[in-house]
Amino acid sequence: MSVELLAKPVVDAAITKLKNEVSAWIKRGVHPSIKVLLVGNHPPSLIYTRNKKRFIESLGAKCEIIHLEQDVSQEVFLEKANNIANDDLVHGCFVQLPLPKQLSHIDVATLFPAAKDVDGFHPDNLRAMVIGNEKSGLMPCTPKGIMSLLRHYKFDAAGKVAVVIGRSMIVGKPMAMMLTNANATVSLCHSKTKDLSHFTKTADLIVVAVGSKDFLKAQHIGTNKPWIIDVGQNVVDDCLYGDVAYETFTKCGAITPVPGGVGPMTICSLGENLLQAVALCQEKNS
Ligand code: NAP
Repeated sequence: MSVELLAKPVVDAAITKLKNEVSAWIKRGVHPSIKVLLVGNHPPSLIYTRNKKRFIESLGAKCEIIHLEQDVSQEVFLEKANNIANDDLVHGCFVQLPLPKQLSHIDVATLFPAAKDVDGFHPDNLRAMVIGNEKSGLMPCTPKGIMSLLRHYKFDAAGKVAVVIGRSMIVGKPMAMMLTNANATVSLCHSKTKDLSHFTKTADLIVVAVGSKDFLKAQHIGTNKPWIIDVGQNVVDDCLYGDVAYETFTKCGAITPVPGGVGPMTICSLGENLLQAVALCQEKNS
């Protein structure tokens, strides 16, 4: 059976460090603070924001959710976003997606300054990623968390063959870029990829972010025991499943469980981004 890449030891170590950093900032008169714009009552969004708030507050930092009605006007939404963007006491902010139809054309990546963009979607932060200078910006939480997990379990991506399945802006594309920065040779696959197994069978690392239970099967895996990162979160009959079929577990070298793998790493990265944002903000003001 493969090794389970559990998030818990990584998150526990990160929490201790982050708590210390938060209390050090508080002693210096700065209380790390995050604000979240949430619109409507989309059930997964309510759960995600509640979990993020709980995590941030457990570090001793502040987290306020600005909860707006589903039918909020564009004018009110933009005014709230602008207030947050200009509030010097707020160090990090993000909009919980998806937004309702009347707001869906808004480019949320540019609503807040890059230094407060704890989701890592601002063009300046994307640029930092593309030029390979990740430390100078805030990186998207899910791929950032995956890179931390790989580091913890001593997976050295340099020279490895990596396959990322799924090309969303929040997971697949930044994941492919961050693995490239870590010197892996990366293929980015998607729904138009012909013969997915051609790519996955020779991979040392497979990151699956499709959103379909049992998507990655044993037949996709070669004989070289790849590591598998299962990003999927699929709720079926009230149970949470990843994208990887159980039968695959015997064919890989290591795998992230769902739950207990990528999900907690994502929330942990949000905490790390907040502390990085506080430091950026203080740098700017000094
Ligand atoms: P998304 O925006 O829906 O993108 C899904 C991707 O899968 C698309 O790029 C799509 O290709 C690709 N795809 C669909 N069918 C495919 C097929 N047959 N073969 C190859 N590729 C295929 O998804 P997302 O936002 O990245 O999320 C993916 C999953 O990760 C979801 O279950 C989501 O809940 C989960 N997630 C988890 C976390 C976490 O913290 N654990 C964070 C974010 C997301 P096209 O581009 O060609 O359509």
